[in-house]
Amino acid sequence: MKYIGAHVSAAGGVDQAVPRAQALNANAFALFVKNQRQWQAPPLSAETIKAFKQQCAGAGYQAAQILPHNSYLTNLGHPESAPRKKSQQAFIDELQRCQQLGLTQLNFHPGSHLRQISEAACLQLIAESINVAFSQTQGITAVLENTAGQGSNLGYRFEQLAEIIEQVDDPSRIGVCLDTCHAFVAGYDLRTIAGCEAVFAEFERIVGFRYLRGMHLNDAKTTLGSRVDRHQCLGAGYLGETVFRYLMQDRRFDGIPLILETIEPERWAEEIAWLREQEASSISR
Ligand SMILES: [Zn+2]
Ligand SMILES: [Zn+2]
Repeated sequence: MKYIGAHVSAAGGVDQAVPRAQALNANAFALFVKNQRQWQAPPLSAETIKAFKQQCAGAGYQAAQILPHNSYLTNLGHPESAPRKKSQQAFIDELQRCQQLGLTQLNFHPGSHLRQISEAACLQLIAESINVAFSQTQGITAVLENTAGQGSNLGYRFEQLAEIIEQVDDPSRIGVCLDTCHAFVAGYDLRTIAGCEAVFAEFERIVGFRYLRGMHLNDAKTTLGSRVDRHQCLGAGYLGETVFRYLMQDRRFDGIPLILETIEPERWAEEIAWLREQEASSISR
């Protein structure tokens, strides 16, 4: 079964995200569990938590179909101690919010070296931050997202994700989310079936599908290897529609949230319906 949805707005409260996902005919969704551009947020109220859980139960969304996204502010690999600790605290706060909401995973961007330390040193700091967060939370899987490699952001090579995972004390609480736009602009050519086969074989070899907890389905406004992160609607960018058809027809992507972060929310329902059609027209494998 494919879980397909979009990163819907949580404006007005996290519970408000659920009917927005339902309206798209989505059986998965992503959301921010707190304002993604602010460090501080008031705690989730008991009413909001209850409303969120009721909405999810009513609409049939299980935790495995929901992939919350961490705030953009945190940098778990920050070279300096004080801002890194601040990021750890914010990350812990988000993990706890997920736990309160009955969720089981949190998607996040690994971190950036800010050109002050080596990649290896930064990856080690990221793993340390994850270990700190795990020591203060329970039951939530931290889901590393591959990045476009824009600026000094790490996580744009599968090797970097693997290097973080290797240094995490409890790898059973680590997952990976692959963003198709990020992979493509980072240099992974997903434009053809043969390209998809090669890239996902490489992913299996270096990271392993056992860690795959979600996908972000985005076309790209920039070219292969550009390392510039600009999402585009499916089929309208340099990536093209082949990879999305491939994902829909491949069983390795069953049972995990497949989330649109494309740039025209008014087209999400149409994009989800199109993805469903690709699934139904299954031919290969
Ligand atoms: Zn992301
Ligand atoms: Zn993404």
